[in-house]
Amino acid sequence: MAVPFLDLITPHVEMEDELADVFRTALRQGAFVGGRIVEEFERAFAAFCGTQHAVGVGSGTDALRFALMAAGVEPGDTVITVPHTFIATVEAISQAGARPAFVDIDPSTFSIDPAKLEEFLVSRCVFNPATGKLLHKATDSLVTAVVPVHLYGQPAHMDPILSLARQYNLKVIEDACQAHGAQYNSAREGRWKPAGAMGHAAAFSFYPGKNLGACGEAGAITTNDAALAQKCRMLRDHGQARKYYHDLEGYNGRLDAIQAGILLAKLRHLPRWNELRREASAEYDRLLSGSNHGLALPVEPAWAKSVYHLYVVRTPSRDAMIQHLAAQGIGSGIHYPIPLHLQKAYGSLGYQRGDFPASEQAAAEILSLPMFPQLQPEQQQRVAAAIASFDGAQTAGLQRQPALASH
Ligand SMILES: *Cc1c(COP(=O)(O)O)cnc(C)c1O
Repeated sequence: MAVPFLDLITPHVEMEDELADVFRTALRQGAFVGGRIVEEFERAFAAFCGTQHAVGVGSGTDALRFALMAAGVEPGDTVITVPHTFIATVEAISQAGARPAFVDIDPSTFSIDPAKLEEFLVSRCVFNPATGKLLHKATDSLVTAVVPVHLYGQPAHMDPILSLARQYNLKVIEDACQAHGAQYNSAREGRWKPAGAMGHAAAFSFYPGKNLGACGEAGAITTNDAALAQKCRMLRDHGQARKYYHDLEGYNGRLDAIQAGILLAKLRHLPRWNELRREASAEYDRLLSGSNHGLALPVEPAWAKSVYHLYVVRTPSRDAMIQHLAAQGIGSGIHYPIPLHLQKAYGSLGYQRGDFPASEQAAAEILSLPMFPQLQPEQQQRVAAAIASFDGAQTAGLQRQPALASH
């Protein structure tokens, strides 16, 4: 019995008639881009996130880029994020005309380390209280925003991030592309808050493999700022609020009606799917804890309720483990193998190996195990048994060949 890394067939087959109806309705209405179904989905998704507005767009990358631009990030500004994320986070910053500046992650949660963020703001920047402007010393540019990434479905530690952002006058754009339905317990506000409702705006992706996935490309911006939402509506539609009156130059970044209808149908299942992911994660915790030396399990701090977009473990023998799992028909992944400051595409930023040790070590050790709502306990037992047998093989190998211990 093979265990796939991800199953995109079962949930769609289960909903086949309902999803096909979405297509039939769109064919009969002849409305394919924007329109009533998109607006209905936007209302439902805003309600799900506890925000006043949601703006449907073409992808998560569009959502991030439009949110940054609508929040007031200008060409030449500096925007802070982490090197341990999917490249789209940083593409959106660059493509909004800004310069990405990296801050390292907390190795236990894989999201931005608030202490390192503060260190960056204090030692690499100069704040002018009279103007409220923050200058990045090395590049002489204004630092105007920070993009915390709720990686793997777990919210970043938002209280300290938001308080630093207030202190230094930064806009906060959440990258919630992996965190639909995740919650953060804000000690400051004394309540749980949904991902997407904490910063000035947030970006979601509905790429098929995300917790809420379209049958194609889609994304959304959530915000409580009506002006920001309106600016995103214009940016996604060639800068027009009224047909052929272009107040600014925008993009073709609209959400199509068929994807909106599919997302609306799937949104009803999302709370249960997220609960199933949490149960699968607890089952992995139970199966994998204790017995396996060198394997670090995901850490869920008391302030986080993760929706386990991915279940990511760490092991120093990651590459051998992948081979071992693959040989037994078990799918796995690496999210992500090369930190962005070491990618060729960002060579011009001038970073070097060693600049972000927590991100670099994570990239070398992380392994994403099979995780999806329909994952069965028997499949998880197979994964756990394969990991246990890998442990045995490693231990035997190390005893025979002590010279290889450093691998
Ligand atoms: C998926 C993803 C994106 C981009 O979303 P697309 O819909 O693929 O454009 C951005 N950031 C993160 C963290 C993601 O996982």
